[in-house]
This record gives sequence, C-alpha cells and structure tokens, in this order.
Amino acid sequence: MENLLGGIEAGGTHFVCAVGNSPENIKDQTSFLTTTPRKTMETVINFFRPHKNITGIGIGSFGPVDLDKNSSTYGMITTTPKKDWRNVNILEITKSSLDIPVNIDTDVNAALLAEHKWGNAKNKDNVIYITVGTGIGGGAILNGKLIHGLSHPEMGHMKIPRNSNDNFEGVCEYHRDCLEGLASGKAIEKRLKENITNHDKTIWEFESQYLGIAISNLILSMSPQRIVLGGGVLNHEGLIDDVRIQTLKSLNNYVYMDEIISDIDSYILPPYLGDNAGVLGAILLAK
Ligand code: ZN
Repeated sequence: MENLLGGIEAGGTHFVCAVGNSPENIKDQTSFLTTTPRKTMETVINFFRPHKNITGIGIGSFGPVDLDKNSSTYGMITTTPKKDWRNVNILEITKSSLDIPVNIDTDVNAALLAEHKWGNAKNKDNVIYITVGTGIGGGAILNGKLIHGLSHPEMGHMKIPRNSNDNFEGVCEYHRDCLEGLASGKAIEKRLKENITNHDKTIWEFESQYLGIAISNLILSMSPQRIVLGGGVLNHEGLIDDVRIQTLKSLNNYVYMDEIISDIDSYILPPYLGDNAGVLGAILLAK
C-alpha cells in the first residue's frame, strides 16, 4: 500500500491542506481563508479526519513559530502581528485531535524543501527562498540542510537603506521600516491607498529596489547557488525582471560569478511549483 501523508500550509491569509506524497500524486486538497484559530483549525481537522490511511502530517506555518523540540511551547505561533493567533499551538491541536505524528517548520522552509526536491532549487546544495506576500519571509538550505539556528531565519525583517525620495513610514509593528515594513504586500496596499498623486510607478520602483538590495545582502552573506523568489506580490508584471536588474545594480559587479553576471535570469527564479510549493513542502515535512 502506498504511503500517504498530510500537508498543511498554514498561511496568514489562507490555509491549504492536502493528502498525497508528490506533485503528481495528490489525492485530496482544499484551501480556505485564515479566520479565528478555532474555526480555522476545526476546518483543518475535519478535512483530515476521513483520511484514515495517512501516516503523518507536516505543517508549514506562518510565524514566528517555536521550532525548538525541547521547548515547552514547541509548535506554538509566537510574536505574530495576527493577535488572535499569538500563543496558538497548531502542532499540538493537530496532533491531539488526529492522534498522528506531526512535524512543523515555517511556511517558507516548507516551500523551499519542495522546490529543493521537485522544483527550481533541485540539485543545488545552497539555496535561498524568499516569499513576498502579506509579509516577507526567507529560508535557506546551506550544504544541503535547512538552516535552523536559535530559531529560524527572519530575512524579511532585515534593514534596508531607504530611497531618499521614499517618505513612507513603513508597516512593521516591530521595526517600522524593515524590508517587510517597506516592501510587503501589506506595505504596497497602504502605499497605494495613501498615494493620491497616482505615482504607482514609483511604488514599484521602490519595491524592486528594496528587494534587489535585500537579495544582494543575502548573496553577500550566504553565497547561494540559486535564489527562488515567490509570493503573491511577484505576480506584478515585470517585477521579477526589475528585481534582477536591481540586484545586479546593488552588487555592482563585486561578486563576479558567471551565474550572476551573465545569467541572472536563471539565478533568480520563481517557484517551479507555483502556489503549490507550500503545501507540497508541508507533505515533505511529514516524512
Ligand atoms: Zn520588521
């Protein structure tokens, strides 16, 4: 009998649940909006309950989430801006309701795992995955292994030098104008709302500039062989091309590698698995 697993992509705006074991073998899948922890987790549990044959569940969660297996709050969402989700232990709820082994990591790490196994990070031992959605997250595989340090990386909250024409205050509750504060989907939404002079073009120029600087910082600090850049904001037409240009501009020929200098289009890539990277990665976490 084939080994089926469950995957939960627990996102800040929506959840995706699936049963299967590879991109070609998904037996059942659903997605729904993230509402209150109680209602959302009830929908999750009700989805998995009839699937008696699954042997484990993986969760790729929005965060920050406690990933220390020795901690008494292992599996708990901690300082999230989503206040009613603070101190919710989604690992415990899933495990106790379904009586099944459950493993958890960040949503970005899950998506990165899936891209590493089946997608645009395949056969690379050193890769960074960045997602620009409502928030900004990043994960890295170095020497073939996901980075887990004290907790997990929070690349989205790095400080970025501002464009001198940018007066936007920023939306991060903790740092105001960190990368997420300046360039997340939430920031763009607020910028567009505040912008009465119709300078949408400038907003997207800032966006590509900040993401380009962030990526060049990551290249300088971790020397990845590839960068996968995903998330809803990247659906904006032409943005990924502009980010590539801004990355080169920020590096200014300093990291003189062919992969970057002459082939940046294959160096910074969108996720091959598209929107399914998160839930497929969650399935990998279940293994
Ligand atoms: Zn921040």
